[in-house]
Amino acid sequence: QHTVWVLGNGQLGAMLSHAGQPLAIDVRPVDIMTPNGDILPIESSHVITAEREQWPESSTSLQLSQHPHFINGPVFGRLADRFTQKSLLDELSVATAPWQLVTDAVSSEALHQAYGERVLLKRRTGGYDGKGQHWLKQAESTEIPNDWRNEAIAEQAINFDEEVSLVGVRTQDGRCLFYPLTLNLHQDGILMASIAPLSRLSHLQAEAEAMLSTIMNGLEYVGVMAMECFRVGEHLLVNELAPRVHNSGHWTQAGCHINQFELHLRALCNLPIHTPQVNFQCVMVNLIGVEKDDRWLSLQNAELFWYNKEVRAGRKVGHLNLSVQDTDTLNATIKQLKSWMPIQYQAPLDWILAEFA
Ligand code: ATP
Ligand code: MG
Ligand code: MG
Repeated sequence: QHTVWVLGNGQLGAMLSHAGQPLAIDVRPVDIMTPNGDILPIESSHVITAEREQWPESSTSLQLSQHPHFINGPVFGRLADRFTQKSLLDELSVATAPWQLVTDAVSSEALHQAYGERVLLKRRTGGYDGKGQHWLKQAESTEIPNDWRNEAIAEQAINFDEEVSLVGVRTQDGRCLFYPLTLNLHQDGILMASIAPLSRLSHLQAEAEAMLSTIMNGLEYVGVMAMECFRVGEHLLVNELAPRVHNSGHWTQAGCHINQFELHLRALCNLPIHTPQVNFQCVMVNLIGVEKDDRWLSLQNAELFWYNKEVRAGRKVGHLNLSVQDTDTLNATIKQLKSWMPIQYQAPLDWILAEFA
Protein backbone atom coordinates (compact mmCIF):
# COMPACT_ATOMS: atom_id res chain seq x y z
CA GLN A 1 0.00 0.00 0.00
CA HIS A 2 1.43 3.35 -1.10
CA THR A 3 0.43 6.66 0.43
CA VAL A 4 1.40 10.00 -1.11
CA TRP A 5 0.71 13.29 0.66
CA VAL A 6 0.40 16.36 -1.57
CA LEU A 7 1.29 19.84 -0.36
CA GLY A 8 -1.63 21.80 -1.81
CA ASN A 9 -5.17 20.78 -2.73
CA GLY A 10 -5.93 22.52 -6.01
CA GLN A 11 -6.78 20.88 -9.31
CA LEU A 12 -3.34 19.28 -9.70
CA GLY A 13 -3.72 17.53 -6.34
CA ALA A 14 -7.21 16.38 -7.32
CA MET A 15 -5.95 14.97 -10.64
CA LEU A 16 -3.08 13.20 -8.82
CA SER A 17 -5.69 11.53 -6.56
CA HIS A 18 -7.74 10.57 -9.58
CA ALA A 19 -4.70 8.99 -11.24
CA GLY A 20 -3.75 7.12 -8.07
CA GLN A 21 -7.09 5.36 -7.76
CA PRO A 22 -6.68 2.50 -10.29
CA LEU A 23 -3.25 1.70 -8.81
CA ALA A 24 -4.65 1.83 -5.26
CA ILE A 25 -2.20 4.58 -4.40
CA ASP A 26 -3.73 6.56 -1.58
CA VAL A 27 -3.14 10.19 -2.61
CA ARG A 28 -3.95 12.79 0.05
CA PRO A 29 -3.90 16.43 -1.04
CA VAL A 30 -3.62 18.78 1.93
CA ASP A 31 -4.99 22.30 2.27
CA ILE A 32 -1.96 24.10 3.68
CA MET A 33 -3.97 27.23 4.45
CA THR A 34 -5.89 25.45 7.20
CA PRO A 35 -4.92 27.50 10.26
CA ASN A 36 -3.34 25.43 13.03
CA GLY A 37 -4.40 22.24 11.33
CA ASP A 38 -4.09 18.97 13.16
CA ILE A 39 -0.83 17.01 13.02
CA LEU A 40 -1.05 14.83 9.91
CA PRO A 41 -0.73 11.05 10.47
CA ILE A 42 2.28 10.64 8.17
CA GLU A 43 3.85 7.19 8.56
CA SER A 44 7.47 6.22 7.89
CA SER A 45 6.62 4.50 4.58
CA HIS A 46 4.67 7.49 3.21
CA VAL A 47 6.08 10.00 0.73
CA ILE A 48 5.29 13.67 0.24
CA THR A 49 5.10 15.75 -2.92
CA ALA A 50 3.81 19.22 -3.84
CA GLU A 51 1.47 20.55 -6.50
CA ARG A 52 2.90 24.07 -6.27
CA GLU A 53 6.37 25.62 -6.10
CA GLN A 54 5.71 27.93 -3.18
CA TRP A 55 3.57 27.95 -0.10
CA PRO A 56 2.86 30.13 2.89
CA GLU A 57 4.28 28.99 6.20
CA SER A 58 1.77 27.18 8.40
CA SER A 59 2.06 24.32 10.87
CA THR A 60 0.75 22.03 8.12
CA SER A 61 3.11 23.23 5.37
CA LEU A 62 6.03 22.93 7.80
CA GLN A 63 5.10 19.39 8.77
CA LEU A 64 4.99 18.39 5.09
CA SER A 65 7.94 20.37 3.72
CA GLN A 66 10.34 19.50 6.55
CA HIS A 67 9.53 15.82 6.51
CA PRO A 68 12.49 13.57 5.53
CA HIS A 69 10.34 11.92 2.83
CA PHE A 70 9.47 15.21 1.12
CA ILE A 71 10.73 14.27 -2.36
CA ASN A 72 12.80 16.96 -4.13
CA GLY A 73 12.61 19.14 -1.00
CA PRO A 74 15.55 21.48 -1.80
CA VAL A 75 14.47 21.84 -5.46
CA PHE A 76 11.29 23.80 -4.75
CA GLY A 77 12.90 26.87 -3.23
CA ARG A 78 15.58 26.88 -5.88
CA LEU A 79 13.14 26.84 -8.80
CA ALA A 80 10.52 29.05 -7.13
CA ASP A 81 12.96 31.98 -7.24
CA ARG A 82 13.66 33.07 -10.83
CA PHE A 83 17.09 34.34 -9.77
CA THR A 84 18.25 30.93 -8.54
CA GLN A 85 16.38 29.13 -11.34
CA LYS A 86 18.08 31.16 -14.08
CA SER A 87 21.43 30.83 -12.26
CA LEU A 88 20.98 27.05 -12.31
CA LEU A 89 20.31 27.08 -16.08
CA ASP A 90 23.49 29.13 -16.60
CA GLU A 91 25.53 26.79 -14.38
CA LEU A 92 24.29 23.79 -16.35
CA SER A 93 24.88 25.61 -19.68
CA VAL A 94 21.24 25.14 -20.68
CA ALA A 95 20.21 27.85 -23.17
CA THR A 96 17.82 30.44 -21.75
CA ALA A 97 16.79 34.03 -22.51
CA PRO A 98 19.65 36.43 -21.53
CA TRP A 99 18.93 37.93 -18.13
CA GLN A 100 20.24 39.72 -15.06
CA LEU A 101 19.15 40.56 -11.55
CA VAL A 102 17.53 44.01 -11.20
CA THR A 103 19.85 45.41 -8.53
CA ASP A 104 19.87 48.85 -6.92
CA ALA A 105 22.60 49.93 -9.31
CA VAL A 106 21.01 48.99 -12.63
CA SER A 107 19.19 51.60 -14.75
CA SER A 108 16.55 51.07 -17.42
CA GLU A 109 19.01 52.65 -19.91
CA ALA A 110 21.58 50.00 -19.07
CA LEU A 111 18.97 47.26 -19.53
CA HIS A 112 17.98 48.61 -22.96
CA GLN A 113 21.67 48.86 -23.81
CA ALA A 114 22.10 45.20 -22.94
CA TYR A 115 18.85 43.72 -24.31
CA GLY A 116 17.24 46.19 -26.73
CA GLU A 117 14.01 48.16 -27.09
CA ARG A 118 11.82 45.91 -24.98
CA VAL A 119 12.89 44.31 -21.73
CA LEU A 120 10.70 42.05 -19.61
CA LEU A 121 10.94 42.37 -15.83
CA LYS A 122 9.69 39.35 -13.90
CA ARG A 123 9.17 39.18 -10.15
CA ARG A 124 11.56 36.64 -8.65
CA THR A 125 8.80 34.81 -6.80
CA GLY A 126 5.05 34.38 -6.83
CA GLY A 127 4.38 35.02 -10.54
CA TYR A 128 2.11 32.69 -12.51
CA ASP A 129 -0.18 32.97 -15.56
CA GLY A 130 1.84 36.03 -16.60
CA LYS A 131 1.20 37.87 -13.33
CA GLY A 132 4.25 39.58 -11.86
CA GLN A 133 5.57 40.81 -15.23
CA HIS A 134 6.40 44.39 -16.22
CA TRP A 135 7.53 45.49 -19.69
CA LEU A 136 10.17 48.20 -19.99
CA LYS A 137 9.67 50.00 -23.30
CA GLN A 138 12.44 52.32 -24.39
CA ALA A 139 10.12 54.36 -26.65
CA GLU A 140 7.83 55.08 -23.67
CA SER A 141 10.69 55.49 -21.16
CA THR A 142 9.03 53.00 -18.81
CA GLU A 143 10.83 52.99 -15.46
CA ILE A 144 11.80 50.17 -13.12
CA PRO A 145 9.25 50.14 -10.27
CA ASN A 146 11.08 50.99 -7.03
CA ASP A 147 9.84 48.00 -5.10
CA TRP A 148 11.00 45.65 -7.90
CA ARG A 149 14.68 46.28 -7.19
CA ASN A 150 16.37 43.09 -5.97
CA GLU A 151 12.94 41.44 -6.26
CA ALA A 152 12.93 40.97 -10.03
CA ILE A 153 15.04 39.78 -12.93
CA ALA A 154 15.26 41.48 -16.33
CA GLU A 155 15.03 39.32 -19.45
CA GLN A 156 15.64 39.98 -23.10
CA ALA A 157 12.37 39.95 -25.08
CA ILE A 158 12.53 36.84 -27.23
CA ASN A 159 11.03 37.12 -30.67
CA PHE A 160 10.10 33.45 -30.68
CA ASP A 161 8.40 31.51 -33.47
CA GLU A 162 6.27 29.59 -31.01
CA GLU A 163 6.19 28.10 -27.52
CA VAL A 164 6.68 24.43 -26.75
CA SER A 165 7.12 22.43 -23.58
CA LEU A 166 8.59 19.13 -22.59
CA VAL A 167 7.20 17.04 -19.75
CA GLY A 168 9.48 14.33 -18.47
CA VAL A 169 10.11 12.10 -15.50
CA ARG A 170 13.23 10.99 -13.64
CA THR A 171 13.11 7.71 -11.76
CA GLN A 172 14.75 6.93 -8.43
CA ASP A 173 17.47 5.00 -10.27
CA GLY A 174 18.18 8.04 -12.46
CA ARG A 175 16.50 7.17 -15.77
CA CYS A 176 14.88 10.04 -17.68
CA LEU A 177 11.80 9.45 -19.85
CA PHE A 178 9.71 11.92 -21.83
CA TYR A 179 6.46 12.64 -23.58
CA PRO A 180 6.62 14.13 -27.05
CA LEU A 181 6.98 17.92 -27.19
CA THR A 182 3.78 19.91 -26.73
CA LEU A 183 2.94 23.04 -28.73
CA ASN A 184 1.45 25.75 -26.51
CA LEU A 185 -0.48 28.92 -27.16
CA HIS A 186 -0.40 31.63 -24.48
CA GLN A 187 -2.64 34.69 -24.56
CA ASP A 188 -1.97 37.53 -22.12
CA GLY A 189 0.60 35.33 -20.34
CA ILE A 190 -1.83 32.46 -19.69
CA LEU A 191 -1.90 29.05 -21.37
CA MET A 192 -4.96 28.80 -23.64
CA ALA A 193 -4.37 25.63 -25.63
CA SER A 194 -1.90 22.81 -26.31
CA ILE A 195 -1.44 20.33 -29.13
CA ALA A 196 0.63 17.13 -28.95
CA PRO A 197 2.29 15.28 -30.42
CA LEU A 198 3.16 17.05 -33.67
CA SER A 199 5.43 15.38 -36.21
CA ARG A 200 6.67 18.80 -37.36
CA LEU A 201 8.28 19.24 -33.90
CA SER A 202 9.90 15.81 -33.69
CA HIS A 203 13.29 17.06 -34.94
CA LEU A 204 13.49 19.19 -31.75
CA GLN A 205 12.74 16.29 -29.41
CA ALA A 206 16.35 15.15 -28.91
CA GLU A 207 17.60 18.66 -28.09
CA ALA A 208 14.72 19.19 -25.64
CA GLU A 209 15.31 15.82 -23.95
CA ALA A 210 19.02 16.54 -23.58
CA MET A 211 18.22 19.88 -21.90
CA LEU A 212 15.68 18.49 -19.44
CA SER A 213 17.89 15.44 -18.69
CA THR A 214 20.75 17.79 -17.79
CA ILE A 215 18.44 19.72 -15.47
CA MET A 216 16.81 16.71 -13.78
CA ASN A 217 20.15 14.90 -13.36
CA GLY A 218 21.79 18.09 -12.09
CA LEU A 219 19.11 18.38 -9.41
CA GLU A 220 18.94 14.62 -8.73
CA TYR A 221 15.26 15.12 -9.25
CA VAL A 222 12.63 12.37 -8.88
CA GLY A 223 9.19 12.62 -10.52
CA VAL A 224 7.62 14.71 -13.26
CA MET A 225 9.10 18.05 -14.31
CA ALA A 226 7.99 20.44 -17.04
CA MET A 227 10.26 22.66 -19.14
CA GLU A 228 8.66 25.58 -21.01
CA CYS A 229 10.63 26.69 -24.07
CA PHE A 230 10.67 29.21 -26.86
CA ARG A 231 11.34 27.84 -30.31
CA VAL A 232 13.58 30.25 -32.17
CA GLY A 233 14.23 28.86 -35.61
CA GLU A 234 15.60 25.36 -35.15
CA HIS A 235 16.63 25.84 -31.51
CA LEU A 236 15.09 25.99 -28.09
CA LEU A 237 15.59 28.45 -25.23
CA VAL A 238 14.26 27.49 -21.81
CA ASN A 239 11.69 29.97 -20.52
CA GLU A 240 11.01 28.39 -17.16
CA LEU A 241 10.83 25.14 -15.24
CA ALA A 242 8.09 23.67 -13.06
CA PRO A 243 9.03 20.93 -10.56
CA ARG A 244 5.63 19.25 -10.79
CA VAL A 245 2.89 18.04 -13.07
CA HIS A 246 2.02 20.83 -15.49
CA ASN A 247 -0.90 22.30 -17.41
CA SER A 248 0.84 21.64 -20.74
CA GLY A 249 0.88 17.91 -19.84
CA HIS A 250 -2.88 17.63 -19.31
CA TRP A 251 -3.34 16.25 -22.84
CA THR A 252 -1.68 13.02 -21.65
CA GLN A 253 -4.86 12.20 -19.70
CA ALA A 254 -6.55 11.49 -23.02
CA GLY A 255 -3.59 10.74 -25.24
CA CYS A 256 -1.29 8.38 -23.37
CA HIS A 257 -1.50 5.03 -21.66
CA ILE A 258 0.28 6.54 -18.64
CA ASN A 259 -0.71 10.14 -18.00
CA GLN A 260 1.61 12.66 -16.32
CA PHE A 261 -0.14 12.30 -12.95
CA GLU A 262 0.28 8.52 -12.87
CA LEU A 263 3.83 8.87 -14.15
CA HIS A 264 4.69 11.18 -11.24
CA LEU A 265 3.12 8.78 -8.73
CA ARG A 266 4.96 5.78 -10.20
CA ALA A 267 8.29 7.62 -9.83
CA LEU A 268 7.55 8.69 -6.24
CA CYS A 269 6.48 5.16 -5.25
CA ASN A 270 9.36 3.51 -7.14
CA LEU A 271 6.96 1.45 -9.28
CA PRO A 272 7.90 0.13 -12.75
CA ILE A 273 8.19 2.92 -15.33
CA HIS A 274 8.68 2.91 -19.08
CA THR A 275 8.19 5.49 -21.78
CA PRO A 276 4.46 6.28 -21.97
CA GLN A 277 2.83 5.05 -25.13
CA VAL A 278 0.97 7.72 -27.10
CA ASN A 279 -2.44 6.43 -28.14
CA PHE A 280 -3.55 9.44 -30.14
CA GLN A 281 -2.82 13.07 -30.82
CA CYS A 282 -4.71 15.46 -28.56
CA VAL A 283 -5.73 19.06 -28.26
CA MET A 284 -6.20 20.59 -24.82
CA VAL A 285 -8.28 23.73 -24.37
CA ASN A 286 -8.07 25.51 -21.03
CA LEU A 287 -11.36 26.77 -19.59
CA ILE A 288 -10.55 30.21 -18.23
CA GLY A 289 -13.10 32.50 -16.57
CA VAL A 290 -16.05 30.74 -18.20
CA GLU A 291 -19.10 29.09 -16.62
CA LYS A 292 -19.49 25.33 -16.97
CA ASP A 293 -21.45 24.48 -20.10
CA ASP A 294 -22.88 20.96 -20.34
CA ARG A 295 -23.04 21.29 -24.12
CA TRP A 296 -19.29 20.55 -24.07
CA LEU A 297 -20.22 16.99 -23.12
CA SER A 298 -21.99 16.57 -26.44
CA LEU A 299 -18.66 16.87 -28.31
CA GLN A 300 -17.94 13.29 -29.28
CA ASN A 301 -14.13 13.48 -28.87
CA ALA A 302 -14.07 15.57 -25.67
CA GLU A 303 -13.20 14.80 -22.07
CA LEU A 304 -14.09 17.49 -19.57
CA PHE A 305 -12.16 18.21 -16.38
CA TRP A 306 -14.04 20.78 -14.29
CA TYR A 307 -12.16 21.94 -11.19
CA ASN A 308 -15.20 23.10 -9.25
CA LYS A 309 -13.63 26.43 -8.37
CA GLU A 310 -15.37 29.78 -8.18
CA VAL A 311 -15.38 31.27 -11.70
CA ARG A 312 -13.43 34.54 -11.98
CA ALA A 313 -12.10 36.41 -14.99
CA GLY A 314 -8.69 35.04 -16.01
CA ARG A 315 -8.90 32.06 -13.64
CA LYS A 316 -8.34 28.48 -14.84
CA VAL A 317 -11.49 26.58 -13.92
CA GLY A 318 -11.20 23.47 -16.09
CA HIS A 319 -9.91 22.01 -19.32
CA LEU A 320 -11.17 20.02 -22.26
CA ASN A 321 -9.09 17.27 -23.82
CA LEU A 322 -10.05 16.53 -27.42
CA SER A 323 -8.62 13.46 -29.09
CA VAL A 324 -7.64 13.79 -32.73
CA GLN A 325 -8.48 10.31 -33.95
CA ASP A 326 -9.70 11.90 -37.14
CA THR A 327 -9.14 15.45 -38.28
CA ASP A 328 -12.66 15.99 -39.63
CA THR A 329 -14.19 15.33 -36.22
CA LEU A 330 -11.65 17.62 -34.57
CA ASN A 331 -12.36 20.44 -37.02
CA ALA A 332 -16.08 20.02 -36.46
CA THR A 333 -15.81 20.07 -32.67
CA ILE A 334 -13.48 23.09 -32.63
CA LYS A 335 -15.92 24.98 -34.89
CA GLN A 336 -18.76 23.99 -32.59
CA LEU A 337 -16.77 25.23 -29.57
CA LYS A 338 -16.09 28.51 -31.36
CA SER A 339 -19.81 29.14 -31.57
CA TRP A 340 -20.26 28.54 -27.85
CA MET A 341 -17.18 30.28 -26.46
CA PRO A 342 -16.68 34.00 -25.76
CA ILE A 343 -14.62 36.39 -27.86
CA GLN A 344 -11.24 35.71 -26.20
CA TYR A 345 -11.47 32.08 -27.41
CA GLN A 346 -11.91 32.88 -31.10
CA ALA A 347 -8.20 33.42 -31.82
CA PRO A 348 -6.95 30.36 -29.86
CA LEU A 349 -9.56 28.10 -31.50
CA ASP A 350 -8.59 29.48 -34.92
CA TRP A 351 -4.97 28.72 -34.02
CA ILE A 352 -5.97 25.07 -33.50
CA LEU A 353 -7.90 24.96 -36.79
CA ALA A 354 -4.88 26.42 -38.61
CA GLU A 355 -2.61 23.66 -37.27
CA PHE A 356 -4.92 21.02 -38.77
CA ALA A 357 -5.76 22.85 -42.00
P1 ATP B 1 3.17 30.16 -15.87
O1 ATP B 1 1.70 30.29 -15.63
O2 ATP B 1 3.52 29.37 -17.10
O3 ATP B 1 3.93 29.71 -14.65
P2 ATP B 1 4.55 32.71 -15.50
O4 ATP B 1 3.69 33.79 -14.98
O5 ATP B 1 5.45 32.00 -14.56
O6 ATP B 1 3.65 31.65 -16.27
P3 ATP B 1 6.35 32.96 -17.79
O7 ATP B 1 6.09 31.57 -18.23
O8 ATP B 1 7.73 33.34 -17.46
O9 ATP B 1 5.40 33.43 -16.60
O10 ATP B 1 5.80 33.95 -18.91
C1 ATP B 1 4.46 33.86 -19.36
C2 ATP B 1 4.43 34.08 -20.86
O11 ATP B 1 4.97 35.37 -21.17
C3 ATP B 1 5.28 33.10 -21.64
O12 ATP B 1 4.62 31.88 -21.86
C4 ATP B 1 5.52 33.90 -22.91
O13 ATP B 1 4.38 33.88 -23.74
C5 ATP B 1 5.70 35.32 -22.38
N1 ATP B 1 7.15 35.57 -22.12
C6 ATP B 1 7.83 35.21 -21.01
N2 ATP B 1 9.13 35.56 -21.08
C7 ATP B 1 9.28 36.15 -22.29
C8 ATP B 1 10.41 36.74 -22.98
N3 ATP B 1 11.63 36.77 -22.43
N4 ATP B 1 10.19 37.24 -24.22
C9 ATP B 1 8.96 37.20 -24.78
N5 ATP B 1 7.88 36.68 -24.19
C10 ATP B 1 8.01 36.15 -22.96
MG1 MG C 1 5.69 30.08 -14.08
MG1 MG D 1 5.26 29.90 -17.87
